Amino acid sequence: MANKGKIGVTTENIFPVIKQFLYSDHEIFLRELVANAVDASQKMKALASSGDFKGELGDIKVTIDLDSKAGVLKITDRGIGMTEDEVDRYINQIAFSSAGEFLEKYKDQISNIIGHFGLGFYSAFMVSKKVTIDTLSWKEGATAVRWTCDGSPEYKMEASDHADRGTVITLYLDKDSEEFTQKDRIKGLLDKYCKFMPIPIVFGKKQEWKDGKYVDTEEDEVINSIEPLWTRQPSELKDEDYLSFYRALYPMHDEPLFWIHLNVDYPFTLTGILYFPNLKDRVAIERNKIQLYCNQMFVTDHVDNIVPDFLTLLHGVIDSPDIPLNVSRSYLQSDASVKKISTYITKKVADRLEEIFKEQRPALEEKWDNLKLFIEYGMLSDEKFFERAKNFALLKNTDGKYFSFEEYRKAIEGEQTDKDKKVVYLYATDVENQYSFIEDAKNKGYDVLLMDCELDAHYVNLLEQKIPDTRFSRVDADSIDNLIPKEEKIRPQMSEEDRTDLSDLFKAVLPTGSEYYVTEDNLGDDAAPILITQSEFMRRYREMSALGGGLNFYGEMPTAYNITVNMQNPLIAKIFAGMKSDVAPMGKLPEEASKDASDEEKTKAREAREAVKNAHKKDVEAYADGNEMLHQVTDLALLANGMLKGKALSDFIRRSQKVVADAFLKK
Ligand code: ADP
Repeated sequence: MANKGKIGVTTENIFPVIKQFLYSDHEIFLRELVANAVDASQKMKALASSGDFKGELGDIKVTIDLDSKAGVLKITDRGIGMTEDEVDRYINQIAFSSAGEFLEKYKDQISNIIGHFGLGFYSAFMVSKKVTIDTLSWKEGATAVRWTCDGSPEYKMEASDHADRGTVITLYLDKDSEEFTQKDRIKGLLDKYCKFMPIPIVFGKKQEWKDGKYVDTEEDEVINSIEPLWTRQPSELKDEDYLSFYRALYPMHDEPLFWIHLNVDYPFTLTGILYFPNLKDRVAIERNKIQLYCNQMFVTDHVDNIVPDFLTLLHGVIDSPDIPLNVSRSYLQSDASVKKISTYITKKVADRLEEIFKEQRPALEEKWDNLKLFIEYGMLSDEKFFERAKNFALLKNTDGKYFSFEEYRKAIEGEQTDKDKKVVYLYATDVENQYSFIEDAKNKGYDVLLMDCELDAHYVNLLEQKIPDTRFSRVDADSIDNLIPKEEKIRPQMSEEDRTDLSDLFKAVLPTGSEYYVTEDNLGDDAAPILITQSEFMRRYREMSALGGGLNFYGEMPTAYNITVNMQNPLIAKIFAGMKSDVAPMGKLPEEASKDASDEEKTKAREAREAVKNAHKKDVEAYADGNEMLHQVTDLALLANGMLKGKALSDFIRRSQKVVADAFLKK
């Protein structure tokens, strides 16, 4: 029956083309060949169980043999095999011609093609100078066929001496592909692509320790697990099964927090297990830890076009034959079935979290801190997810208590509604540094949330938009009475000149390098003399621009602080009265130049006025400089904000020692 022929492709010689285009992905040849062998084996099993095949099924497995020295790799299966006619049809005509079409169609974007699916059998030529197929069909009366091709479009068919049912593909590896003569390389590829294929895959023999070295035993080394966890029924699985599967997938990771077992048949087929990883303290958050399989064959770990962005933080496995694979990435994003799959997964994740919220609240609270980055990211990036997550997302306060959005609203509504009927959510980003502000708020009967996560600057903005009649305010953004104003307050009555003096007085003793806006207020006679705050607005913009919100203008501005002077505080009253009596008032300013005065006269008049103002300002500053009480009061406020450093701090300590000595010893 020996015959020769020419493979029916239009391209004169497709093999150099294949090699060139698919250079980076040569390794997939092994996956393709093993997948074909697995396919043929499964078909054989199906024929046996349907009764079409009545003979001896035998041990169904796929065996990989490597002869490193000779550079020969064999893939042997005991599947259905092929008749001569089938080899001609599937290999010579269909496989090769579809290869030609495939290359024609995708030659511009071939490097974009995920996994290069559909290359099938002839991907063997990416790594081989010669390939043979020896195959014996299961069909009665079939004889074994040998097909040989040396990489030119010409092939040879002849009788084969292959006696067992099934197929042997023999690759004579070419020089450029020497890496595949390494046992470890092949083992690595089998682990990567074939670890969960549904038919046992044998590579070598199990070894044992004997006479001081490892030796092969009689037993096959099976490299795969034919019934991976996601193909099994959730009802028959225990927590430990999920945890150990996770450990097998990611040996270096902390235990996952929760998991979801996906299982759907309609309108698409998808199974899988997704894990919520422990995100706490992970410096660089890892994406692309989800592995995509197609009928238990590994395809890729880049699922970024298949699941929404925030879900790429999850770990685990998705297996679906319905994700189109031999298409470009941009196509994938607009593909309707991929969209459905993406929506389904998002919904399942939300369902599972809601279920945990309802049924395992203590566990959710315990793990919340490690989970919240993921959930906040989801809420920020996916509108639909926000709508679901607002029912199970938790808020944590500075006492470590957790609330749902609804619970929290109820808890604070009574006390924290301001005069405009807005409910004010107070939050702290740092319990240590904002301690005194938190205490002030608590003493008023208010609650303070803890927002110390990387995304919280954005998250606070989002919640403010989404929760009606709500304002978020960091607890140190102003005096507590101003953060939640209850009624119109009577502000101190002061002249314009007194205001300027007050401002100059404090600016004279505040550290240089920042901007200060000094304002007077009535905060009560037992409240602190001065309060240093940063406006909510400025601070948020600064934080967002630091996070890359495109608002760099604010990021570059010097830090600005609001200095609120409590005019009702007795110390302030004393300092201010002292200044009024010691510093001569500014007196009358020289006249402004008349409208039709010359430019020169105008400048002169302006300078005369400035000179008087400056002289007065100098007097105020001199007074400030010599006023210990003013220094002391200001430094205490700076200290409360962690802003007193270096020389200023040591001056303060020395002054305080003196003040304390005076107070105690002079009595
Ligand atoms: P695909 O697997 O995508 O159909 P391939 O080029 O890999 O394309 O293979 C073409 C055909 O050759 C297969 O559909 C199958 O009928 C046949 N074939 C390939 N490998 C084997 C094998 N090991 N055993 C039996 N048939 C095979």
